[in-house]
Amino acid sequence: MPRDFLKGASGEYDVIVIGSGLAGLTSANALARSGHRVLLLEQHYKLGGMATWFKRPGGHIFDVSLHGFPIGMVKSCRRYWTREIADSIVQLKHVRFDNPMFSLTTLYNREDFTRLLTGQFGVSQERVEAFFEAARGMNFYDEQQQTVGEFFEKFFPGRGDIVRLLMEPITYANGSTLEDPAITYGIVFSNFMSKGVFTFQGGTDRLIQLMHEDLIRSGVDVRIRADVEQIHVERGRVAGVTVNGRFIKARAVVSNANIKTTILKLAGRENFTPEYVAETESIRLNNSSTQVYMALKPDERVDESTGDLLFSSTAPSFQTDLLLSRDITSRTFSFYYPRTRPEGKPRCLIVSSTNAQYEDWINLSDEDYQASKDDLIETTLESLDRYVPGVRKKLDHVEAATPRTFRHYTRHAQGSSFGTKFEGLAVSRSLPAQVQGLFHAGSVGIIMSGWLGAINYGVIVANEVDALLLSKSTTPVG
Ligand SMILES: Cc1cc2nc3c(=O)[nH]c(=O)nc-3n(C[C@H](O)[C@H](O)[C@H](O)COP(=O)(O)OP(=O)(O)OC[C@H]3O[C@@H](n4cnc5c(N)ncnc54)[C@H](O)[C@@H]3O)c2cc1C
Repeated sequence: MPRDFLKGASGEYDVIVIGSGLAGLTSANALARSGHRVLLLEQHYKLGGMATWFKRPGGHIFDVSLHGFPIGMVKSCRRYWTREIADSIVQLKHVRFDNPMFSLTTLYNREDFTRLLTGQFGVSQERVEAFFEAARGMNFYDEQQQTVGEFFEKFFPGRGDIVRLLMEPITYANGSTLEDPAITYGIVFSNFMSKGVFTFQGGTDRLIQLMHEDLIRSGVDVRIRADVEQIHVERGRVAGVTVNGRFIKARAVVSNANIKTTILKLAGRENFTPEYVAETESIRLNNSSTQVYMALKPDERVDESTGDLLFSSTAPSFQTDLLLSRDITSRTFSFYYPRTRPEGKPRCLIVSSTNAQYEDWINLSDEDYQASKDDLIETTLESLDRYVPGVRKKLDHVEAATPRTFRHYTRHAQGSSFGTKFEGLAVSRSLPAQVQGLFHAGSVGIIMSGWLGAINYGVIVANEVDALLLSKSTTPVG
């Protein structure tokens, strides 16, 4: 008989959280800490969603999305998770750029960028200050007509090199373009500039293990291999979910699945107004990624001066479409030194990431798909050889992931790495106005995605669910 992953689960909870991405995990934890009975359902056999890792023979552990996040993670993890998690967040001190326009290493914070912009790039101090203040002063309620490109042009007209310095990491980090609203750039960039780029010491596996332990302490009923097939809506209110063929009742449901999937597939369009369905359908997905994972032989090392994060490009100028092209010219290398996992076996690993379009990968025959993956690995090694000479001989293991891989493991439509574009946020926020008790917390837009954005969005939504559950109007349906 197949194993029952819901064995012992109750027939009713206050809240059901669908999906254990960082937003789902954080929502579940915050709600359980507030005293609600919470069921967390994850279809995969691991918690974490895109905050994930995998092991390969030889003691190698690869992180998939642990490349860098802003300092805000410390505060969010201390408040909504544990001190041990917050205290494991450490700075990446060597962020490197290497392209035909410039080569430099930076701490990637305001002080160091001011030094670079006034020194190496020859901009006046006043202009640099004005730029930082304008970026930092942006907030949600500002008008959103100005694009990122227009914002740069206002402060640094005709300076393609500066646009590249300012934009390349953010485009890599969340697929944003020069045509996106300037506000989305301003908020994310300022978050990084406040103190630099940070990582989690101990790796994603340790983070998720610590989060899992905290969820259990908080009293969350955590279930893996629990695939939610349907969100039930009765008389305009959420009634529960069907998971692994079983109906479980709840007063509120938080979906951490993609917003489009949540509305159009899990709940069903018949439960929403036609205007809302049309708005949902028009949400654009963010791009996907390819990655090449490389592990060095146990006794091989990379010199730490190579950098922690290296934005490498051979493209003569910065163009968003080039960053997405199959003819890869830009790669971001993440270097993981033995200090990444001080308690594990001392290993050096390198992950190369590139933004990618789902359409470029989905229609390939099995043969062409394999050939494309091999080509991706070959061209990546060629590029990496400039920074780690003789890298091929040093490798113990190499493999590639594509948009198809991300689609398969995360269920994100088109393998999207950062959920949806900006317009997904308005739809996500107005979900409870359509169906009482139904919420969404997960990657929408640039601000509410990435590790920090997902955690913070999880908290925001948990507060709203808490308020609803405490109000009298949520007697369960039926
Ligand atoms: C290659 C790559 C590199 C990245 N690099 C960075 C980085 O350097 N810095 C950074 O901050 N962010 C990075 N990110 C983005 C970051 O990892 C994500 O934005 C964040 O982890 C998303 O969290 P989330 O809460 O939106 O949910 P997700 O991680 O998308 O998780 C959703 C979960 O819901 C589950 N689920 C879906 N449908 C169902 C269902 N029907 N039933 C049960 N479970 C379901 C899925 O299995 C999944 O576990 C990267 C992402 C990728 C792919």
